[in-house]
Amino acid sequence: MDYRKHKGSAHIKRRRGRGFKTLFFLLLFIFAIVCFVLSILPKPVPSMEDMDLPDFIDVDLISVNEFSRPGDKLTAVNGVVIHYVGNPGTTAENNRSYFQNLAVTGEAFASSNFIIGIDGRVIMCVPIDEVAYCSNGRNEDTLSIECCHPDETGKFTAETEESLIKLTKWLCDTYGLKRDDVIRHYDITGKICPKYYVENPDSWESFLDSVFAE
Ligand SMILES: [Zn+2]
Repeated sequence: MDYRKHKGSAHIKRRRGRGFKTLFFLLLFIFAIVCFVLSILPKPVPSMEDMDLPDFIDVDLISVNEFSRPGDKLTAVNGVVIHYVGNPGTTAENNRSYFQNLAVTGEAFASSNFIIGIDGRVIMCVPIDEVAYCSNGRNEDTLSIECCHPDETGKFTAETEESLIKLTKWLCDTYGLKRDDVIRHYDITGKICPKYYVENPDSWESFLDSVFAE
């Protein structure tokens, strides 16, 4: 029996086996690198025309103007910022009109993507893929929600809070956002906004619990 030949072919088989193993790990390594790069790249913001908006959102856009709707596209959607209007008793429609009228009065730079009324009505007045003037340094990479309130405490009605939970939940599902991505205006600048959720952190946490409840 020629042992050398036999040993030789076993050796080639082993080498071939090692070759496949190396190739497998190399491909796995490349796959991991690609996944990592994709995860850190900014995700493109879907355009509003491509989105399937839920029925509870009333789209009533303000016109493009330098004071409340610059017409700039968001660079990303990395968060949702909650606000209160700070003007007790006003309706969602009143606040939408205020933003629209800034185009004429030019008295401030202000707007939000969404306004929720005391009655729970949800108005989108700046498109979901555009910058609104609401959250200072986070205007370019977040969506903003202004909430109406009946009095100075800034406490939202049950209807407002119910719509806020529904809208925030939908936005988090749509953009893959986590609990830490839902923030108050206060968390960006220290402004007492939304007042009730700043002064009552337990209510803020229970709002977040409701958004992320199964
Ligand atoms: Zn605010």
